[in-house]
Amino acid sequence: MHCPFCKNPDSRVIDSRTADDGTAIRRRRSCTECGRRFTTQESVILMVGKRSGVTEPFARDKIIRGVRRACQGRPVGEDKLAILAQRVEDTIRARGCAEIASHEVGLAILGPLRELDEVAYLRFASVYRGFESLADFEREISLLRAAHVDARQSQTIEAAGSASAKGTIDGVEGTARDQVRNTQHTVREAPAETAGQTAARPVRNSQDTARQVPTETVGQTAARPDLVDVAARVR
Ligand SMILES: [Zn+2]
Repeated sequence: MHCPFCKNPDSRVIDSRTADDGTAIRRRRSCTECGRRFTTQESVILMVGKRSGVTEPFARDKIIRGVRRACQGRPVGEDKLAILAQRVEDTIRARGCAEIASHEVGLAILGPLRELDEVAYLRFASVYRGFESLADFEREISLLRAAHVDARQSQTIEAAGSASAKGTIDGVEGTARDQVRNTQHTVREAPAETAGQTAARPVRNSQDTARQVPTETVGQTAARPDLVDVAARVR
């Protein structure tokens, strides 16, 4: 690598250390000609494999462009797009693969985009998943509606959580919120019938119900006190 100051093609490594949690190596170099110092960084280039068999370096810009198109006319600013692209890249890099299929990049976009803007999400999903009929949209919309019901319950958890977490540092609250977000994600994947049951449950139980969400037993009704009463009366 040429010295950035005098273009001399030779340099000496003075120091090298891992950076970015071990995903990169930084080398401090000294130019053998002018003696000035500079730093280089070496990291694995994440490659994206296309269906055609062509591979190309992962580019965050490409994600931003694709999502921006889906967000046309929606209240989504450039900063939000940048954060989304960063999240997608983090998700993909966390898998530790040197190459990833392009459709997996698309999949990694869907989750964060759904949180960002549901209309944009529907647009993106309709192209990406190749929606062919109104039924495809209807199915997707009913999943989104089910997620809304669950989100309302999760807000109850959040309210309960922050009430008990009074005086804790921001970081801790952030973690709790992340957990709630994960819970939402899990339930969004649940079949529509389960979501329907959830929706049909009385509001006064929503707090009890919400507390059960983190365990996988969203559909269980045994813990409802009113049902236990009924069962006792029947006996
Ligand atoms: Zn130099």
